[in-house]
Amino acid sequence: MNRLPIVAKITLWFSAALVIVVSITSVMILFVSDQILQKTIKDSLIDTVENNFDEVEFYPTVASADPNDTDYFVKYIDGFLEIDDDYLNEVNNVYSALYNSDGTMIYGENPIAGEIDDVEFVNSVVQSKKIDGTLYYIFDRSLSENGLDGLWLRGVVSENQGSVPMDKITRITIVFLPALMLLSIIGGYLLARRMMRPVKNISDTASQISDGGDLKKRIELGDGDDELHRLADTFNKMVERLELSFESERRFTSDVSHELRTPMSVIMAQCEYSLEKPMSGEEYCDCLKTIQRQGRKMTSLINDMLSFARMETNAEYYSKESVNLSETVSAVCEDMAMIKPNGITLEYEVQSDISVLGNAALLTRLVSNLIDNAYRYGKADGKTSVTLTQDTENIYLTVSDNGIGIKKDEADKIFERFYRADKSRNSNGTGLGLSMVKQIALFHNGSVSVESEIGEGSKFTVSFRKN
Ligand code: ADP
Repeated sequence: MNRLPIVAKITLWFSAALVIVVSITSVMILFVSDQILQKTIKDSLIDTVENNFDEVEFYPTVASADPNDTDYFVKYIDGFLEIDDDYLNEVNNVYSALYNSDGTMIYGENPIAGEIDDVEFVNSVVQSKKIDGTLYYIFDRSLSENGLDGLWLRGVVSENQGSVPMDKITRITIVFLPALMLLSIIGGYLLARRMMRPVKNISDTASQISDGGDLKKRIELGDGDDELHRLADTFNKMVERLELSFESERRFTSDVSHELRTPMSVIMAQCEYSLEKPMSGEEYCDCLKTIQRQGRKMTSLINDMLSFARMETNAEYYSKESVNLSETVSAVCEDMAMIKPNGITLEYEVQSDISVLGNAALLTRLVSNLIDNAYRYGKADGKTSVTLTQDTENIYLTVSDNGIGIKKDEADKIFERFYRADKSRNSNGTGLGLSMVKQIALFHNGSVSVESEIGEGSKFTVSFRKN
């Protein structure tokens, strides 16, 4: 069963359920119809006998009866029984006859007269007797209520009287319902096959991706909003994220090797140069200083990479506690305000007693990276300002400068690792500062955004949700 295709499974379950329902319904229809028919037959038997009940009267002499009557007269004791011409011997196969209490038939018809002589007369009760495999209903009525003691009216009818309509019902039930069931099964199978078509599409695409590794493939189901379309959407989004993540990993690896290659080449060149021929102590010193500078650059690059990896995969490495962000930001600003590179001044306005659950070292890094950028991309004698505020839901840290600004189409890209808006502008940066800011903000359930105008300046805003 497990190996069967889903369409076959659905059709089998559906058919089994349908067979059960149709069988139960057929049995119920046949049973109820039979009950109704039998009741109708009995009612018709009782009605016929009751109708004939008033049609029998006693007269002492024939002359005392209405002379114009065409009724039937039977000699009875010392008088006559008058059987009215409304008396019906047979109506719809119900037979009715007049009997003496000793069982002698006086008038009427009874096709099974000899077979039911042993059935006692019982007033107003439907009795039954099986004769040659056929059931007969018998209904007796005593005429003593009409003052005719010892006389009985007996009606008989066979249960087969209802066999014609019952045959019809049986035929309809046995032929029509299964035919309907067969049609439903075929319809159900076709519908299930049609509904499962998208699943095949999904599975084919998944196989193509897993076999060929082509993350550009997507499931195309067309318009729709059912479960399968939503599944396809989720699948497509998942593949898109995988594609992005693979792409960023690939770019990251190539960027890292590229970024390390430059300082490494400088170090190698300096070593070769100093080993080539004897040099003065001062020249050796210069070489060592260059090597040291490049070594520092590599160290900071490697440290940054490690920090990224730890934040992404090993969150416990950076413990979180309640940090007084107001104090942290003020301390960084106080220290960095003293640098005044290129005559750039730093102003800061920090709302007191703002705290977040976070890591003080990382938050310090976030603030200093932003100020560092504002200095590096600021204009000579320019201005940098830092603010820290909060409202009921969020905490906002802004770092603004009136520096060179960022092009609109680059505003999002600058948060990517190793991205530099204009590499020729500044060769000192690693291209990791802002991606580190973004990573730290995310680590604290926050986000970072930038508003900027080329030549006017930039404003970076970090928002943290209050805990
Ligand atoms: P970098 O080491 O190159 O500064 P960052 O990740 O810190 O790396 O910044 C990425 C790029 O964003 C920078 O190369 C620069 O082009 C741009 N940038 C960052 N901060 C500013 C700023 N305050 N003003 C103008 N451009 C900026």
